[in-house]
Amino acid sequence: MARHTITLIPGDGIGYEVSEAARRVIDATGVDIEWDVQNAGLDVVEEFGTPMPDHVLQSIRRNKVAIKGPLTTPIGKGMRSVNVALRRELDLFALVRPTKWYPGVRSRYDNVDLVVIRENTEDLYAGIEFAEGEPGTLELIETIARLNGRRIREDSGISIKPTSITATQRIFRFGFQWAIDNGRHKVTAVHKANIMKYTEGLWLRVAEEVAKEFPQIEFDDRIVDNMTMQLVQKPELYDVMVMPNLFGDILSDLCAGLVGGLGLAPGANTGDDIAVFEATHGSAPKYAGKNVANPMAMMLSGMMMLRHIGETDAGDRLEAAIATVIAEGRSVTYDMKPSRDDPTSVGTSQVADAVIAELESATVVR
Ligand code: NAD
Repeated sequence: MARHTITLIPGDGIGYEVSEAARRVIDATGVDIEWDVQNAGLDVVEEFGTPMPDHVLQSIRRNKVAIKGPLTTPIGKGMRSVNVALRRELDLFALVRPTKWYPGVRSRYDNVDLVVIRENTEDLYAGIEFAEGEPGTLELIETIARLNGRRIREDSGISIKPTSITATQRIFRFGFQWAIDNGRHKVTAVHKANIMKYTEGLWLRVAEEVAKEFPQIEFDDRIVDNMTMQLVQKPELYDVMVMPNLFGDILSDLCAGLVGGLGLAPGANTGDDIAVFEATHGSAPKYAGKNVANPMAMMLSGMMMLRHIGETDAGDRLEAAIATVIAEGRSVTYDMKPSRDDPTSVGTSQVADAVIAELESATVVR
């Protein structure tokens, strides 16, 4: 069996615990992995002067596959998001976030199997921002007034929302191909083309053109506000949804909420030849170091990673083991119990123990 070398970035906050749990269950599938462990985030800033040191990026470029825990972004000032920077730096243009309901999960719904594919490089998350009051911002305000006839208030901060034909074609081609490769039948383009004609309008127009290249997949589109309502009312009508960066960020949390919450929502940041797997949730600092966070989102990200490296059988076995632990309902964290302070909830590492026991007993049965 071929050995895989994979970069493991534990992250910060609850990252250490959920990453360790994920690493243990991935190892328990029997796939031969050499973990290239690389620390990043808040805890390395003092040592390296940056939350994402160059040697971490080099490791991902070298190994082509990484799995990472969440990294904290201080809100409003200082560091821009390391996660967003990582995706841009490695041109991981597609973020695939499946949300699937597993029997036993407490949710208002029991029939959800959705996939959000989020464009990762453009839109309001492109990181092109102008701070209020700075000379460059005032100059931009003047330029816009001259070119467009509309004057932005002088005390404004400005974020730029680029949407290119190139990136839109690329994400929709990826989305349709992903749908084909994963046995899906429909792609929905999500947008706000009625209001932002030159960005979202372009997005929709390109989506419609790309859809013609994939006649075997059904295609439709939804305005984002309608989409949010429809997802809450009748999620079973949707399948794969391709959306710009900001809508993708918001709606993937909404979809996570349909299937039991952030503790169960995995993801894959994918580029042409590199993929970085991570849960949708963040570093939940208030739970850090307490062995209470749900590691299943990280484990399911590991499942996606196993399938990505061609270890489909191991990925399937891992998913089945997680599903069994969920269905039994005993070895699950607080967020999957009827009340948050349920005394029968178990810790992060005990969930890993239970999944490993399932993997081992399934191996014996075989
Ligand atoms: P969060 O996802 O960290 O936490 C929100 C809430 O969800 C938590 O308070 C907790 O109640 C629950 N939760 C999240 N993950 C859980 C888990 N595994 N098990 C059980 N409950 C869980 O979101 P936030 O509080 O908005 O962000 C905290 C930090 O994480 C911020 O700095 C943010 O920028 C960062 N973040 C990082 C990533 C990433 O690394 N990709 C993603 C989102 C947020």
